[in-house]
Amino acid sequence: MRLDPKLAFRIDSDSLPMQELAAICDCGGRLAGSDSERRAVELVARLGEKASDIAPRREPVPYRGWKTIHAALRLADGTPCDCYPLLFSSPAPRGGLTAEVVDLGRGAPEDFDRHKADLPGRIALVRHELMFASRTIHRSRKYRMAVDAGAAGFLIAGPLPGAVVAGSSGRTGPDGIPALGISPETAARLAATNGKRTTVNIELDTAEAPVEAHNLVFDLPGKEAEWVVLCAHIDGHEVSESAIDNASGVAAVLAAMRCLAPEFCHFRRGLRVIFFNVEEWALTGSAHYVAGLSEAEREKIALVINLDSVAGSPHLTALTSGFTALGPFLQGVAANNGTSLAIHLPLMQNSDHANFAAAGIPAFRLVAGFDEPEAELRHLLTPADSRDKVRPDELHKAARLAAAIATTAANASPDEAQAWRNRD
Ligand SMILES: [Zn+2]
Repeated sequence: MRLDPKLAFRIDSDSLPMQELAAICDCGGRLAGSDSERRAVELVARLGEKASDIAPRREPVPYRGWKTIHAALRLADGTPCDCYPLLFSSPAPRGGLTAEVVDLGRGAPEDFDRHKADLPGRIALVRHELMFASRTIHRSRKYRMAVDAGAAGFLIAGPLPGAVVAGSSGRTGPDGIPALGISPETAARLAATNGKRTTVNIELDTAEAPVEAHNLVFDLPGKEAEWVVLCAHIDGHEVSESAIDNASGVAAVLAAMRCLAPEFCHFRRGLRVIFFNVEEWALTGSAHYVAGLSEAEREKIALVINLDSVAGSPHLTALTSGFTALGPFLQGVAANNGTSLAIHLPLMQNSDHANFAAAGIPAFRLVAGFDEPEAELRHLLTPADSRDKVRPDELHKAARLAAAIATTAANASPDEAQAWRNRD
């Protein structure tokens, strides 16, 4: 279905998305549990209420909080190097961890295999990869391989000259090792010279305690008790202002919401807008939300549209989580609205849509710059994920496409909506 030209015009002439993006970035990097994240949740609650005239429900997300108390990385001669602890990293032993570094290059399974005998008691060094590519090996998998190989520590080198890289270790249980993001220059200094491994010292003191964050839910009811969910995550990392990931998604969802709020009462299904929290910590906010849905409530969700990192490239891709009918449906909507959309079918567990998909609910992620190594999205999780990488037309485009998909899905026949639930 073509988005009503009146609605498309409403989005294209909306000057708020860049202002709202800046206001979200002004809160800071929005690491879950920080003051910056709490300020951002209050801001988005206000902006969402202004956009829709509806007060949000604040749904608590209890989770195991984690923070760094002290972190340092030093070469054998005492020279300090910049580092950034990965979320949920284990602490280093008292007095620090001193060990040799084993450079695994990329850190693919075959690299770990080749160095199996070298790793016990030593520190694994791997490289961060572009996250939005079909062949990416995720950081948390590399971390897990290092733990399983008996490594005593884990270092991951970022892509951006002079900058460390952030991310989550993916650790969920008590077993783990200290893990730091470092710059490519530090990685170059740590590579073996003349076959001789370098030695480093890692100091890392952390604290863990149960804490609570909040998801924000805005319900715009339709005629029937069924929903199209439109969502984006608020939280980020402290190394940057987390502009592309994911102030861009939040700003585009707010724009779509502002445009659609007066319309949904006329549609078959309603629009449920959710701003998730604690996404950067193993998708915790959405996992909690989906776990709280009864089987009947899951059946009532026709489609989940997750906007995560929708700027930094003019090209958008839908990651359709193995739901085969979604690709043709979404490409049809895009074509009817004069734009193109690439489809990547396999389930990618890299944002909140994955928790819905795992529960059998048709869900996809809209992302910019997929399989585009030169796109600005290469700066994600580094200090360069800043507002200057986001263009207003990219926010408008994502909001327009999300609005077109949401309205088409809201009016789709029960048979068509049922077909979206099929997987191979
Ligand atoms: Zn994200």
